[in-house]
Amino acid sequence: MLIPGFDFLAHILSEVTAGLIGIGLTIGVERAVKFVGRRRLEKRFPIAGTYMSKYEDKGRIVTAPVELKQRGSEVQGESYEGNRKWILKGLVTEDGYLQGRYWAENVFDKGFGSFLLKIEPNCDMHGYWFGKDIKEREIQRGSYDFYKRDISIEPVSPRDIPALLDIAEKQLGDAYINRRDLENGKDRIALSAAVNGRVVGFGTARVIPAQEFYGKFEPFFKQDPTALRPLQRRLPDKENVGLVASVAIAPEFHGRGIGTALVERCIQELAARGVTVLVATAWHSRNGTNAGSLLENKGFQKVLEVPEFWKEASLQNNFSCPVCGPPPCECAATVYVRSL
Ligand SMILES: [Zn+2]
Repeated sequence: MLIPGFDFLAHILSEVTAGLIGIGLTIGVERAVKFVGRRRLEKRFPIAGTYMSKYEDKGRIVTAPVELKQRGSEVQGESYEGNRKWILKGLVTEDGYLQGRYWAENVFDKGFGSFLLKIEPNCDMHGYWFGKDIKEREIQRGSYDFYKRDISIEPVSPRDIPALLDIAEKQLGDAYINRRDLENGKDRIALSAAVNGRVVGFGTARVIPAQEFYGKFEPFFKQDPTALRPLQRRLPDKENVGLVASVAIAPEFHGRGIGTALVERCIQELAARGVTVLVATAWHSRNGTNAGSLLENKGFQKVLEVPEFWKEASLQNNFSCPVCGPPPCECAATVYVRSL
């Protein structure tokens, strides 16, 4: 028996269902088209990677390393300037631009703004930013350039040693680094950084007994041994520690995050050798603490300041400090510790 109306209702319902399926299909197709479109954009403009960015800020040029990740047309990034970290979010457009916005990662830092960059065939990008910093009342603006970095970090090879010793002498002073420091072994790490195939810097690290590290500073505090407690507390008793011994970069490659990349790799290598505490001694001259902010960015904490740390050694070894000149060197050492 036919119930009048039922057939009609069934008909309507099937149409509704067909309609819903139709909508579903349309959405699905649209998504697929978008997805394919995004993948195509990623292939055409593969901008993921590491960059050195330069931006103009009130007449000065600031360099900041940038790390970009890409999923289709969507780009996310991080930029580092000293202790500040910026988050970048953007979209790649069909005609080869990256447009986006940036803000400070620290919630108490209210800096934010926008950027528009044209993507070059080699993936360098050039354009402009505008935005507002925490202390400013007006919108600031300036040029914004990204240079794709092709850095490789490898264990030091013998043929790179002369170039690296040359960089060491200019950056750290003569006789500070020798050939032996640039060798690799069970407890010794020596890494070189190359940009587009040219060796531009190195980082060295060693696994040493905690007592050996501590012992270096004891003679300086005979009058006041309590000053050593903050360091002593952080060191394991009888185990080894990982010493990030030195980092030096050719001056024309400063400010590109190469030092950071080297320290990161040294930390990885030390961790792989089983140490749980890392130590480093930064050189504190009247020009500031060399590598201090780099170490702090990597989670190291300052635990000790040792005045005239290199004075005796500079006299004994006739070591010329790049800041003080011929001996004696009057620079201090700042001691950093990080637990892994
Ligand atoms: Zn000095």
